[in-house]
Amino acid sequence: CGIVGYIGYRDAWPVVIKGLKRLEYRGYDSAGIAIINDDGFNVYKKAGKVSFLEDFATDKNTTGKIAIGHTRWATHGAPSDKNSHPHSSNDNRLHIIHNGIIENYCVLKEELISRGHNFKSETDTEVLIHLIEEIQNIEKIDLLEAVRQALKSVIGAYAIVILDRENPDQLIAARKGSPMVIGVGESEYFIASDITPIVEYIRNVIYLKDNEIALMTRDEFLIKRLDNVIQTPMIQELELKL
Ligand code: GLU
Repeated sequence: CGIVGYIGYRDAWPVVIKGLKRLEYRGYDSAGIAIINDDGFNVYKKAGKVSFLEDFATDKNTTGKIAIGHTRWATHGAPSDKNSHPHSSNDNRLHIIHNGIIENYCVLKEELISRGHNFKSETDTEVLIHLIEEIQNIEKIDLLEAVRQALKSVIGAYAIVILDRENPDQLIAARKGSPMVIGVGESEYFIASDITPIVEYIRNVIYLKDNEIALMTRDEFLIKRLDNVIQTPMIQELELKL
């Protein structure tokens, strides 16, 4: 339902928490954040309000300059801690947040289970990250290419953001049928399902289009379409409505 991602020089936790609160008006049943820091990575998820997640994490490590956060409106799998996003790959290396519905998740899940994947939730979303992991392992390709290939076999609607524990300088986002906007700053990016979490930080935004995948690192920005054609990003300036 709500998506917030950050990569840059600021502390990511407060940016993402504040952003998720700004998206609360859309309604949701649970919330979660994955964050990478010097100690490794942490995933915190809780059914209920964003403030429950905040309280739960007060005595935990929330440092880090890169994070993804989600407020969920359950479509597949009851609202619960374990069905909350982010969801992780089999080896816990990749983490995903997702808005929308993966319609062919059943067939994909069966196939992945037969290839040895263990699922930790009942969501359609978790299938996506296992599929990306499986393709990356088989094809020995980079994550962007694995995401592209995986999305080609997916039917449904999605806005997704992916965090890779092994690449703490990179976020990947993609969309089809669900909105997604990227705030572009000096060596920082904000990703969100609408502009409300972004406006207080940044004026320059890119509205990702259907079938586009964006790769953001602290010094690179690339948009590719699912058909592998590189796109020129169209940066728009937000108008201040005072
Ligand atoms: N279909 C996903 C789920 O049930 C995402 C729902 C959403 O957009 O929040 O977990």
